[in-house]
Amino acid sequence: MKKQVVVIGLGRFGSSVCQELYKMGHEVLAIDSNMERVDANRDHSSHAVIANATDESELKALGVRNFDNAIVAIGDDLQASVLCTLMLKEIGVSKVWVKARDLQHQKILEKVGADRVIQPEYEMGVRVAHHMDSEKIIDYIDLSKDYSIQELTASDKIANRTLAKLNLRERYKIIILAIKRGEDVNIAPVPNDEVQENDVLIVMGHRDDLKRFEEKGI
Ligand code: ADP
Repeated sequence: MKKQVVVIGLGRFGSSVCQELYKMGHEVLAIDSNMERVDANRDHSSHAVIANATDESELKALGVRNFDNAIVAIGDDLQASVLCTLMLKEIGVSKVWVKARDLQHQKILEKVGADRVIQPEYEMGVRVAHHMDSEKIIDYIDLSKDYSIQELTASDKIANRTLAKLNLRERYKIIILAIKRGEDVNIAPVPNDEVQENDVLIVMGHRDDLKRFEEKGI
């Protein structure tokens, strides 16, 4: 479904969110106080405008209240990012996602009502560490402190066996959510499905169980 998203702050982070959403077919209003940044995003957004996002009357004049989603990607100007977040929530934007530079910034944003706070450098650092920790891990998402979802490459150790035979749920307490084979994705694997070498398994479980599986089972 087509979404209406306002992206505020068109640095590296904001412009990549803006351009990607626009490519996906969503309506994107791109805002920055810097003319060059706005110009650079003109062809990659539905509308690109120069405005000061800490000025409530400017935001209202742009019709920001009609947008359900906003991304605040104002870089290091903590005061501007907090003020803008607060105003967007007051105007009534239901989902406001904000980029934070550190934990302190994140806490303030949560207090003023940000619906999701992203720390790109920190989050990417965690992912890179996991990839480096094990070459079998392709991608990684934390669900909570204890549980995560990982993408792992299957070796010949578990190849040519069905999920029933592998019995990973019993042996490792992990769940196979999907199996990727080249371009094909089997999103609801059944017990009779076979795993082949180099398949990518998307598995969910406790971090300790996933670690055990990654070291001994795959
Ligand atoms: P990144 O680290 O993602 O590259 P930057 O700090 O380079 O982020 O970019 C932040 C952007 O936010 C800049 O383009 C800047 O002009 C914009 N910006 C900062 N304050 C405001 C504001 N009050 N209103 C609109 N845009 C702003």
